[in-house]
Amino acid sequence: MRALVFHGPGNMELTQVATHPLLPGEIRIHISLAGICGTDLRIFRGIKRVDGPRIIGHEFFGTISEIGPGVTGYDLGERVVVYPIIACGHCYACQAGRENICVNRRTLGYEIDGGFAEYVTVPAAAVQGGNVVPVPSGVSDIAAAASEPAAAALQGVRRAGELSGRNVLVMGGGPLGVAHIQHSQLFGANQVILSEPDEGRRDQGLRFGADVAIHPSELADTVTGQVDVVFIDAGIPSLVSDAIAVLRKGGKCVVFAGMPENSPVLVDPNRIHYGEIDLVGSSGSTPQLQAEVLRYVDEGRLDLEAVVSDVLPMDEWKRGFDMKADAAGLKVLISTGD
Ligand SMILES: [Zn+2]
Ligand SMILES: [Zn+2]
Repeated sequence: MRALVFHGPGNMELTQVATHPLLPGEIRIHISLAGICGTDLRIFRGIKRVDGPRIIGHEFFGTISEIGPGVTGYDLGERVVVYPIIACGHCYACQAGRENICVNRRTLGYEIDGGFAEYVTVPAAAVQGGNVVPVPSGVSDIAAAASEPAAAALQGVRRAGELSGRNVLVMGGGPLGVAHIQHSQLFGANQVILSEPDEGRRDQGLRFGADVAIHPSELADTVTGQVDVVFIDAGIPSLVSDAIAVLRKGGKCVVFAGMPENSPVLVDPNRIHYGEIDLVGSSGSTPQLQAEVLRYVDEGRLDLEAVVSDVLPMDEWKRGFDMKADAAGLKVLISTGD
């Protein structure tokens, strides 16, 4: 099969890779579309460490092409997505029902071969863990391929708590920010404010349903004391202090974006104390949340096709990564062409 193999920072090639006969419990999926994530770019650049050779890519859609011995409940040709994080099921986090932060987690596209390929083999532990999620017939291939990051955004919403009637500030108008604008609307937020330095992205945020879009320099003057929930959707550490400064009492700050390592920030602890401000993180999601996102799409309540800006053939993968690096487009998908 053709696959995009990462060998080391800056070194990735489209090449032929052999597939092995399926082991008991495994499922093989013929991939149609795979999304390029910011993490893939960080792997390519050597910022996030992955040991090569590895087929990266953790956001993908396809159809089941082979079913290993002992697997039940799935059909050949079934349209599926795969939730990429495989939880161990027995660490303290898993025991507490928080599989997304499993301390022994393995992830397709990081420690296990992933989705920038014509086929992916889903390990038995993932099949057993329910990571292979059927796609409802009303959800297009393109929307399904965009469901993994949307599920992660939904985990951020879970961490934020009730959004209905609340004023939400989204910091950063890239793909993560757009997802939180969509989810805030979906869950009945009163007002959704986007803070983003780039004018094009502010306009884009308004098109996706933000009520107001402002430049970050306007934050302190315009929204202080009006915000109940902040989603930090850009990897800029100082946004955490900005968020805590503008939240009103009882507010919640969700650190959703990954940040550069070793970049501490100063916050005013009295704002947290007197204001009973909650500062929470959000990481990954679950197969259940990915299924929930697909249900919202199927019901016509969430438009994931709109977040996909480009679909490129496999041999143009480099252009896709360059677009990601230039923050051009929104979600860029790689198509295997079949
Ligand atoms: Zn991702
Ligand atoms: Zn675990």
